[in-house]
Amino acid sequence: MQSKLIVQKYGGSSVGDVGRIERVCDKIISYAKKGNKLAVVVSAMGDTTDELIELAKKINPNPEEREMDMLISTGEQISSALLAMAIHKRGHEAISFTGSQVGIITDKYHTKAKILKIETDRIKKELTAGKIVIVAGFQGKSTKSEITTLGRGGSDLSAVALAVALGADMCEIYTDVEGIYTADPRIIKNAKKLSFITFDEMLELAARGAQVMQTRAVEVGKKFNMPIYVKSSFSEKEGTVIMDKLPHIEESVVRGVALTENEAKITICDVPDKPGIAARIFNDLARESVNIDMIVQNVSHKKMTDISFTVPKDKIAKTLKVSKKIADNIGAGGIISDEAIAKVSVVGVGMKSQSGVAAKCFSCLAKHKINIEMISTSEISISCVVKKDLGKEALKVLHKEFGLDKIKG
Ligand code: ASP
Ligand code: MG
Repeated sequence: MQSKLIVQKYGGSSVGDVGRIERVCDKIISYAKKGNKLAVVVSAMGDTTDELIELAKKINPNPEEREMDMLISTGEQISSALLAMAIHKRGHEAISFTGSQVGIITDKYHTKAKILKIETDRIKKELTAGKIVIVAGFQGKSTKSEITTLGRGGSDLSAVALAVALGADMCEIYTDVEGIYTADPRIIKNAKKLSFITFDEMLELAARGAQVMQTRAVEVGKKFNMPIYVKSSFSEKEGTVIMDKLPHIEESVVRGVALTENEAKITICDVPDKPGIAARIFNDLARESVNIDMIVQNVSHKKMTDISFTVPKDKIAKTLKVSKKIADNIGAGGIISDEAIAKVSVVGVGMKSQSGVAAKCFSCLAKHKINIEMISTSEISISCVVKKDLGKEALKVLHKEFGLDKIKG
């Protein structure tokens, strides 16, 4: 068999304790024995990153971001060194590195740095010398030689970016779920695991509540067309390949449904209907870094209109403060907020060439007496806001309506 260059990533739960590190180590060695060259990216053990953040907050509720990066980057350094030691114990050659040591170069924005480039010389040299290279995920070095981290869940990004930089044959993400499902299997018992999903579908599902992989990592995969194989580190079952195009000749129109319960709806009532008002509202919110999701403006009635939008729940206080100020300034009638909402979405690339998908989605909800409060669509998705206590039911009936319980991966 021809030797392959594989980048593998093991998530926090896969290296959560000594036993799990030993198990991951056996897995890695079995791949290496097949003649593959391996660069392995690891996350911090279990909840280490959360614990480090807690610790920092006990010392200083407002720690400087530079020092946060100094602190939280250590989690991955621990797991990578331990994994290298476990490999050595089994008589194989391995070497662990921090992101900074291998030249993962980022911009200067601490705790949310972007990767600018990856210097691959050092890794390539060690791979050529026959070593398994272990890289601490989630981190890099800024152009000012400071240690940076890449945002929560950033080890996925480290892995995909490294696979791109090394020109790897494959990028494998080992995690605690078996792959990407048609819906969250904790809610929909007969959700089906997909063998393949496109980058675009994965990005839509992630933006709409599915939490398998870090979104930025999928974006990098898409940009450089690096297929990402997501599978469980706890079983040998086949996982899901995230790729550019589905290999099926004809695909089912809808490939997944998602639910988010962490958004709230804000309505600014009786807004004067004239040019520039929406711009002003959303500019002010953007300035406060509030990320808006859905926006609906009603038809104007007596030169007044209502504008509703959704925001993440943790931004609600900030949003209300900004909205109140705006409402006073523009002479709007008032503000209503509703946290008891859920958003259900159906996603599939096949929607591009198929009509009637939205109608089918709305009819299905109507049939089950689920009222739709807001709607938004993209080329490959339809989302509806419904009452929070009907969210799971809506997800269930849509999953069935689109035949996802019978889909062939
Ligand atoms: N340890 C980091 C986090 O928990 C990075 C990662 O796990 O991917 O966010
Ligand atoms: Mg983690």
